[in-house]
Amino acid sequence: MSKLSRELKAQGIDVIDLSIGEPDFDTPEHIKEAAKKAIDDGYTHYTPVAGYLDVRQAVVQKLKRDNGLDYTPEQIVLSTGAKQSLINAIMSVVDPGDEVIIPTPYWVTYSEQVKLSEGKIVFVNCSLENGFKITPEQLEAAITPKTKLFMFSSPCNPSGAVYSKAELEALAAVFNRHPNVFVISDEIYEYINYVGRHESIAQFPGMQERTIIINGLSKGFAMTGWRLGYMAAPLEVAKGADKIQSQFTSGTCSITQRATITALTGDLAPTQAMVEEFRKRRAFVYKALSETPGLKVSEPEGAFYLFPDASSFFGKSAEGTTINNADDLCMYLLNKGHVSMVSGAAFQAPNCIRLSYANSMEKLEEGVKRLQKALAALK
Ligand code: PMP
Repeated sequence: MSKLSRELKAQGIDVIDLSIGEPDFDTPEHIKEAAKKAIDDGYTHYTPVAGYLDVRQAVVQKLKRDNGLDYTPEQIVLSTGAKQSLINAIMSVVDPGDEVIIPTPYWVTYSEQVKLSEGKIVFVNCSLENGFKITPEQLEAAITPKTKLFMFSSPCNPSGAVYSKAELEALAAVFNRHPNVFVISDEIYEYINYVGRHESIAQFPGMQERTIIINGLSKGFAMTGWRLGYMAAPLEVAKGADKIQSQFTSGTCSITQRATITALTGDLAPTQAMVEEFRKRRAFVYKALSETPGLKVSEPEGAFYLFPDASSFFGKSAEGTTINNADDLCMYLLNKGHVSMVSGAAFQAPNCIRLSYANSMEKLEEGVKRLQKALAALK
């Protein structure tokens, strides 16, 4: 959708892009300074595959400070982004034919990476009524002797759902009955949380030894282009990830790594200011969408997305265009309403559309106006 929006913009059409998956903020100044210093200090060579030791130590410190978890630097593998950490993790644990449970809606890369690893995807559909979260009963029912891995994100892209401590504890109780199942906990949106402290499933008894935490700098520090992700994992998984990564990319960028120490151990005030801005936008967009006839919305607790159910518009038409599904709706909104959103079909939630509020308040106000007008025209 971003690409189509750019094409329309190139034709002179003013499109409001609400499909964006990255913060619209700039990287904090002190982190940029650290990168400039790294260049001047000569950090220009190959790095160890898993990352410099002192950067991995900074990750260990961060996991203790924010999550109360104890790791050793050998359990940390840095990469060129959470995306690479995810494929490293999946390739380390999944053999052909192993079942991988993914609650839906989910970030589309998960299933594609499981396919690359020849795993068998088992989707579990989570309803808007349950806040798009998997229940312990659903999890228990999905686990079979072939289940190797369960993977999820909290806060979630695309739904914005955040699992509470009690909800994670209830899932952990299920996992404790199934000791052979690994868990990938994608915590890339950790800091973009509107309801309180971030909770990791790794904190519960028996979980850290089978959980692979995935995180990175992209979202919380507005550093998508810098490419820094990491995993914190059981030692044998970290070793597997190191081996795999050594044949794909080697260690990630030396300059980014030096700046990572500053990001992880430095001042979090710019991150908090960004989240406060997102909080205001979320309030505005949530209210506006809740008041839009035909949309069903659940209040997102994290990340920077809203994920309304728009299925009441399926079967309706305007200007000779009939909307049969969420894909049609997003194309109609783009071409006729000049507002860009992403179809839920991409996230295995075909009734929904994803709106990103990683955009200025002014653009959000205009975008919402266009969305409401285009939806109202559907009869
Ligand atoms: N996980 C989720 C849930 C995401 O939304 C994204 C980015 N869209 C990533 C991982 C990848 O982040 P990175 O830039 O660190 O590769």
